[in-house]
Amino acid sequence: MRKKVFCSLLACCFMVSVSGLSENAHAEEEEFCSENYLFGTINPVASSPMGYYILDYAYLKFLSKENNQLIYLCGNPECKHAEFDKPFYQVTEEELWSCNAYVGTVLPCSVVYEDPYVYVLGYDEMTSDVSLQRISMDGSVHENLGVIGQAPDTGSYYTYVLDDNIMYFSYNEPSMNVKNNHVSVQSFDLESGEIEELYVAEGKNLNIYLVREYDGLICFRESKLDEEGNQTDRLLCYDTEKEEIEEVYSGEFYRYAIEDSDHFYLYVTDEGIYSLDRAEGTKELLWEADESTGFAELAYDGEYLYLSNWYAALIDKEQFPYQITVVDKDGNLVNQIDMDVKGLGDVQIIDRENMVADWYGPEYDQVSWALIPKEKLADPEVEWEPVNSINE
Ligand SMILES: [Zn+2]
Repeated sequence: MRKKVFCSLLACCFMVSVSGLSENAHAEEEEFCSENYLFGTINPVASSPMGYYILDYAYLKFLSKENNQLIYLCGNPECKHAEFDKPFYQVTEEELWSCNAYVGTVLPCSVVYEDPYVYVLGYDEMTSDVSLQRISMDGSVHENLGVIGQAPDTGSYYTYVLDDNIMYFSYNEPSMNVKNNHVSVQSFDLESGEIEELYVAEGKNLNIYLVREYDGLICFRESKLDEEGNQTDRLLCYDTEKEEIEEVYSGEFYRYAIEDSDHFYLYVTDEGIYSLDRAEGTKELLWEADESTGFAELAYDGEYLYLSNWYAALIDKEQFPYQITVVDKDGNLVNQIDMDVKGLGDVQIIDRENMVADWYGPEYDQVSWALIPKEKLADPEVEWEPVNSINE
């Protein structure tokens, strides 16, 4: 059985040298919805131009894109962080908090990168408060920006994005249920601390998923199940300039990705991937679902669309071999990546440089990461490359 140390996709999730970011890297990141990089809603990994910020329980780690090395985001060569969790090591509170990589109790899979900071959601077990924590890219400065809400436990999750010093977020119940749900998309002003409800709805079996941001549009999927069990989904976007909600699409869909404010991709279970032209009001089938992609999750890196059938494979591995299907924007198959590799976990993020998965080693004895560089993605013989994990 595959170990699931990191977040399930269904829920969906030193001094580092970070100088020398090119202007291009910034511009490119700004014009793209980076939440497209995720199959689900929440994630333990966030992509930045220089590397990946990884939330590993109570620690932030950094996987450099330059040398594929994974380190604690600490920067203090005297710090004994690699020893803290070892048996018989008596770590003190003072020692813990003096480690720059230590973030305390957080909601797992709550890491977000928004230039030039890394964010995580802190959790207070005494008060149940969830707070937004901001951390400098090298880990040296940690700030608590304030309480944004509450959660019964760390199994709860908030989906959030950041844009222009405002956090947009939605609280998600762990699963669909029959009671009357009150769902909302809210904003939290990082400077004033003010919280505002931008969209509110109530109903049975109502939920909000996949909050994503593109150029001032805050988009999300609202999903509703009626008494007869019929599901309706709506793709809604809050326009931060006009301050109003717009319905982009209504009809059943499971996942979506944003190309730009007029073009979206929709994944419909058992049907496949559609390209949606909002201005024209048309939708076109790009990829027709086959046996392997009939129940899958969608991610998008700006060049390729990705379908992960991890959940179907978890239910029936014989019938649905676990693979990531890679399709170009014209709907041509690029590759199908085998995920049934001993010790390999799930793909957690795909950005412009790499496809990144968690990795436990062939003996399941090391928790680390593996990746496939983008230039090797179309190779039918491509293999996962474990990263170099440095415990210092
Ligand atoms: Zn440390």
